Amino acid sequence: MLIDIVNQYDSEKKQYLKELRTKVILQLSTQQDHKKIVTFLSKAWIINIEDVEKKIYVGFANDFMLSNAKKIFNKSLKESIQTVYNPQYTVEYIVYPPFSNGSDLLIDLWELLNIKQKKGKNNDQIPNSIKNELYDYFWILFDPSFRFDNFIAWSNNQFAYSAAKAVADNPWNAYNPFFIYWNVGLGKTHLMQAIWNEIIQNNPDKVIIYLPATKLVDEIVWALQHNKMSTLMRKFEDVDALLIDDIQFLAWKDKTQEIFHNIFNDFQSKKKQIIISSDRPPKELTQIEPRLKTRFAYGLVADIQAPDYETRIAILQSKLEIKQESIEPELLGIIAQNITSNVRELEWALNTLLTRKKLSWKDTLSEDDVYACLQTLWYSARHTTIWNPNDRNWKSKKNFDTIVEMVANYYSISVAELKSDSRKKEITTARQILMLIAKKYFRRTQQKIWMYFGWKEHATVIYAIRNIEKKLKSDEDIQHDYQIFTERVEQ
Ligand code: ADP
Ligand code: MG
Repeated sequence: MLIDIVNQYDSEKKQYLKELRTKVILQLSTQQDHKKIVTFLSKAWIINIEDVEKKIYVGFANDFMLSNAKKIFNKSLKESIQTVYNPQYTVEYIVYPPFSNGSDLLIDLWELLNIKQKKGKNNDQIPNSIKNELYDYFWILFDPSFRFDNFIAWSNNQFAYSAAKAVADNPWNAYNPFFIYWNVGLGKTHLMQAIWNEIIQNNPDKVIIYLPATKLVDEIVWALQHNKMSTLMRKFEDVDALLIDDIQFLAWKDKTQEIFHNIFNDFQSKKKQIIISSDRPPKELTQIEPRLKTRFAYGLVADIQAPDYETRIAILQSKLEIKQESIEPELLGIIAQNITSNVRELEWALNTLLTRKKLSWKDTLSEDDVYACLQTLWYSARHTTIWNPNDRNWKSKKNFDTIVEMVANYYSISVAELKSDSRKKEITTARQILMLIAKKYFRRTQQKIWMYFGWKEHATVIYAIRNIEKKLKSDEDIQHDYQIFTERVEQ
C-alpha cells in the first residue's frame, strides 16, 4: 500500500519544503537551461529531510524522470540542494509515485520561472512558444510506460516497429514524413510516445512536440478566433520535430487542413521531422484534402495488423510480468480467444481480472471469473452469432435489453438512470449511443426508441441521433466506445 506521506505533513512543513524547492530551482536556473528544468523537474519535489542521518530526499514521479534528471543535471542538482540547504547533508533520489499526476507541481514551476522572467533577472529565457507547449502538453509527453522496450513487436508489426526505431534513433535523416497507421487500441499512441521519448533523450537541446490532432485543431481554431495566427506559426518555427497523433481528426476541418498544409510544407522544406499516426492509410482519409494526403505518403508509410493468438498471449504475459502478477495460462487463453483485435482491451480484461482476484481474496481464479470479467467488458464470450455486414436485413440476435445493461455497466451508471431524463453528460452520451445502436443494429423505429426510453416527445430521438453522429466524427473517446459496443453487437 502506497502512502502519500507528503500529503500527511502539516501545512507548515509542506510550505517549508515547497519554499526550499523554489530556492533550489532558482539556484539551479543560474547554471542550467530553463527548458530542461521545466521539462525534467516539474514532477520532482523535496520529500523529506532527515536530520539524524543528514539526508535530503528528492522524489521523482517515476524512473524515467529520475534517470533523466540524473543524466541531464548530473552533479549540479545535488550541489544546488546542498548550497541552498546544507553542504553536510547528502542528497538521495527516490521514485515517489504519488507525484505522477502532479500537475500542480508543473504549474508551480511554471509560475516560478514566469515570475523570474518578469523580474528580468535572467537573459537565458525560454521562448514563450516552448513554454506554452511544455505547459500544455507536458502530461501527455511524459507517459513513462510508453517506451520501446515494453512495446511488443510481433510478425506483422515488426516493420512498423523497426521503422519507428530508425526514425527515433536517427530523426531528420531516416524517413520523413513517417506515417504509421492501424486500428484503435493497437499501440499508435504507445509507439508515437516511444519515439518522442527516445528523440528527446538523445537530443535534449531540440524542441520535440507531440500533439494529438484534436489539440492541433483547438490551437488553430483559437488562433484564428483571436487573430493570433502569426504567433502560432512562429511557435511551430521553433519546433524541430513534430509528432501528430490521430490525424484522421482533421477530417472535415478545411481551414485547419489548409494551415496544417503550410506547416507541413515549411517542415519539409527545412528538413524538419514530421511523424504522423492515423487509424487508416493516407488514401482512405476521405475528408482530408488530396494534396495533403499525397504528401503524407511521400516518406515511409508503415501499417500493422492485429496480433495473432500466440502474440496476444505473449502480450498478456508481458503485462503480467510488468505488474509482477501471475494468472494460469488456461485463463489467459480464454481472454486471448475472445479479445482478438485490440491490445487496449486485452489490458483492460487483465486488469479487471486482477482486481477481481484482489477483491475476492482468491488465490486462484476460475474460468467463471474470466467470463464474468469479459462480460463486463462486453464480450459475451460463451455464445456468438455470425455477423454478415453485407446482409442489409441483418439484425442483431442479441436482446436490446442486454445491450442496454452492458452500456450501463461500461459507464458505471444504472439502467434506471439511462432511462431517466437526467441531463448529466455521461448519461446523455450513453443514452444517445444506445439510440444509434437501436436504430442501426436493431432496426428500431423512432417511435419504438422513444417509447423504450419513456420519452414524451418524438423529436428528441431525431435530435439525439443526429447529435451523436456528429460527436462520433470528432470525439475520440466516443468513437472508441462506440466501436467497442458495436463490435459486441456484431459478435
Ligand atoms: P492507439 O493509440 O492505437 O489507440 P494505444 O497506443 O493507446 O493505442 O495502446 C493501447 C494500450 O495497449 C496501451 O496501454 C498500450 O501500452 C498497449 N499496447 C498496444 N500495443 C502494444 C504493444 N505492441 N506492446 C505492448 N503494449 C501495447
Ligand atoms: Mg491513440
